[in-house]
Amino acid sequence: MDQDRGTGGAGPTLEEFRAVAAGWLGAHRAAAPRDYGAILPPELATEGRSWQRTLWEAGYAGIHWPAEVGGRGLTPEHQGAWITECALAGVPPFLNMVGNVLTAGALLSFGTPDQQAAELPSILDGSRIWCQLFSEPGAGSDLASLTTRADLDGDEYVVDGQKVWCSNGRVADRGILLARTDPSAPRHAGISFLLVDMTSPGVEVRPLRQMNGDAEFDEVFLTGVRIPVGHRLGPEGAGWTVAMSALTNERGYIGASGISLQRRLDAMLAMGGDLDAIAADELAALWMRGTALWAMGRRSGPAAGVLGSVAKLGTTELMWAVAGFRADRAGADAMLTGDVTHTMLSAPGARIAGGTSEIQRNIIGERLLGLPKEPRGH
Ligand SMILES: Cc1cc2nc3c(=O)[nH]c(=O)nc-3n(C[C@H](O)[C@H](O)[C@H](O)COP(=O)(O)OP(=O)(O)OC[C@H]3O[C@@H](n4cnc5c(N)ncnc54)[C@H](O)[C@@H]3O)c2cc1C
Repeated sequence: MDQDRGTGGAGPTLEEFRAVAAGWLGAHRAAAPRDYGAILPPELATEGRSWQRTLWEAGYAGIHWPAEVGGRGLTPEHQGAWITECALAGVPPFLNMVGNVLTAGALLSFGTPDQQAAELPSILDGSRIWCQLFSEPGAGSDLASLTTRADLDGDEYVVDGQKVWCSNGRVADRGILLARTDPSAPRHAGISFLLVDMTSPGVEVRPLRQMNGDAEFDEVFLTGVRIPVGHRLGPEGAGWTVAMSALTNERGYIGASGISLQRRLDAMLAMGGDLDAIAADELAALWMRGTALWAMGRRSGPAAGVLGSVAKLGTTELMWAVAGFRADRAGADAMLTGDVTHTMLSAPGARIAGGTSEIQRNIIGERLLGLPKEPRGH
C-alpha cells in the first residue's frame, strides 16, 4: 500500500503522482478488465471487483477522499490525473461510477460518520457494487415527477414503485434510491435519498436488452421493500439536493472520458493517409473538437458544476460524430455486426445517460450563458 496514505503528510506533487501512477499502470494494466468506461457491464463484475481491490491495495482508490474515511487525502486534481493516466493506459479508473463517484460523493457530502464508516470501505475495496435507482417509466429528464413511494412505518420506510434503466442492477449489492416520502409537499421537497440493500425481500430485477445487443441495464420493481430510517442520506425531504449533487459529479466524470475519445481520434489520425480531401477535413475537425475537450478536461479535472455539463455535452456529442464518421467510412459494412456497428448503436445512449444533451444545453443556456429560463409547468 502506498506509503503516504493517511500520514497527514504533504503527499506527492501532481507531477510526482502522475509519473508514479503511470509507472504503476504500465506494470499492472494486464490485470485490468477492458476499459468499459463509467458503466460496469454485468458480465465484467468479477473482474471489475478484483481490479478495484488491486487499486485499493496499491493506494489508487479514494485518492481525493479524506484520510479519516480511508482515502489518500490528496486533491481532486490528483484524482483527475489518475483518470487521465488510466485513460492513457486503457484501463477503468475504478469499479463503477455509481459507487465510486455518485454514492461516495453523496456519502462524503451528506452522510453521517456512521453511514460513512458503514459504506465507504466496501466501495474502496470493491466488495460492494452500487447501482442508481433514479429514473422511472414516467420520470427521466423530469426526475422530480417520480412516483415511487417510501412510507414511514416505525423506524423503517416501506417502498413501492418501479425504476428503470438501472445500469448493472442485477450485480449490485446496494442501490441509491430516490423515493417520495411526502406526496403532499411541493414535488421537489417531498423526495428523500435512501440507501437500499438490493438483496432485500421485494426487490425484483429484470434485465433489458439494448439496440446494440448488450443487456447492461435493468428494470427494478420494488414491492413492500423495508429500508431502515438510518439508511436515509440527508434530512427527510432533502433528497433532491443530495441527488443533484450526485448527478453533477456524474456529468463531470462522463466529461472526463473525453480523454479516451481523444486517444481514439489520435489513432484515427494516424490512419488518415488514405482519406479523400473531404473526409480528411472532417477528421481534422473532429480531432480539433477532441483536442479542445481534452485540454479543458486536463485543466479542470472531473468538474462538478456547469463545466461538467459542458464536458458531458461536448464528449458525448463528439462520440456520436466519431461513430458516424467511422460508419460512413465502413459503408454497408456498418450495417452488419462488428466494432463500427456496435459503436454506432451505443453512441446514442451516451447522449441520454446522466441527463440528455437537450437538458445539458438547457443547463448551459440558463446557468452559464444567462439566457432566460425555459417555461416550467410546476
Ligand atoms: C446508457 C444509459 C444508462 C443509464 N443508467 C441509468 C441508471 O443507472 N440509473 C438511472 O436511474 N437512470 C439511468 N439512465 C436513464 C437516464 O438518466 C434517462 O434515460 C434520461 O434522464 C432521460 O430520461 P428519459 O429516458 O425518460 O427521456 P425523456 O426525459 O422522456 O426525454 C425524451 C426526449 O425529450 C427531451 N426533453 C425532455 N425534457 C426536455 C426539456 N425540458 N427541454 C428539451 N428537451 C427535453 C429529451 O432530451 C429527450 O430527447 C440511463 C440511460 C442510459 C441511456
